[in-house]
Amino acid sequence: MGKKTKGFSRHALASGLSAKEFQLILFPTEQCNFRCVYCYEDFEKGKMPEWLVNSIKIFIANKIQNLDKLTLSWFGGEPLLAEDVVFEIAEYANELANKYGCKLTGDLTTNGSLLTLKTLKRLVALKQDFFQISIDGDKESHDQTRVTRSGHGSFDKVWTRLVDAAGTNLDFNILLRIHVTDVNQDSVLNFCKRYDESLASDPRFKLYFKAIENLGGNNVDKIGKLIGKRSAREFADMLTRKYEQKSVDLQKNGHYICYASKPNSLAIRSDGLLNKCTVALKDDVNAVGKINPDGTLEINNQRFSTWLKGFTTLDSWQMGCPLSYMNNNSSVGDIQFKKVG
Ligand code: SF4
Repeated sequence: MGKKTKGFSRHALASGLSAKEFQLILFPTEQCNFRCVYCYEDFEKGKMPEWLVNSIKIFIANKIQNLDKLTLSWFGGEPLLAEDVVFEIAEYANELANKYGCKLTGDLTTNGSLLTLKTLKRLVALKQDFFQISIDGDKESHDQTRVTRSGHGSFDKVWTRLVDAAGTNLDFNILLRIHVTDVNQDSVLNFCKRYDESLASDPRFKLYFKAIENLGGNNVDKIGKLIGKRSAREFADMLTRKYEQKSVDLQKNGHYICYASKPNSLAIRSDGLLNKCTVALKDDVNAVGKINPDGTLEINNQRFSTWLKGFTTLDSWQMGCPLSYMNNNSSVGDIQFKKVG
């Protein structure tokens, strides 16, 4: 286990502050082919227009020359609904990374339904090879909450994608984020059984048990029915221990540091606005600037720096989720923050 400062891994602190590393979080589209009952997104924004794709490419070209490591993190909506944008930017970044000797990594937060073998193969070749896919238990429970836009359950499609991926020898990692609520625990156990039988022996598939929390948005009432008691968290903790070798514990190597706390992480929305956090999409304090067509950034430094304060206080809450920290400490600096969620 590495050295720590105030419970944070020194390596993680140095990496978050390094000018040689950069995480670019991209929303290639904010549309989604799912309508999960607890989703906090409003689907008002569409796909990145061509001018924005070009400006992001210019931004990467300028930035990568001074980097040792560039990470592209694809978010949405469902990023694979705009896979042409993902490929165009990732191919460009990959070319430049090879040219300048920069390490390129990439991850996608995806519902998994569009992760065909063809798409998976192409993404892996571009080092966009880490996938986080949410699962709400086995079919009976997953199909109630992770519903397609046309109102159908999505479990069978997603499971087929996982089994197909397991049948290849491609070099990827898939993290199955298992949402645990008070009402789906039997179904989660059924899913674990299915995982044990089909995927557990494959080191590319890992589990992350997450007790579901209220993320705000228009579905607070529905989610309110799903949370409330403590048992979901206890159940998630129990499964994390049971699957110790196969599951991810964000706190294992010291306190978790959210990317929104880091000076070297930035999100570009599908309309060119810049954010720090990927949850508070409508919050003013998260609107930290915009990217111009020539690839330059206009940043509101006061707002931007508000997200980074955890690096000066080394407060585990402020670092782990600056959004919730701000919302519970309503006046920070000169800006008054409204509550979200
Ligand atoms: S600031 Fe909090 S809500 Fe926003 S991305 Fe980080 S952990 Fe999530």
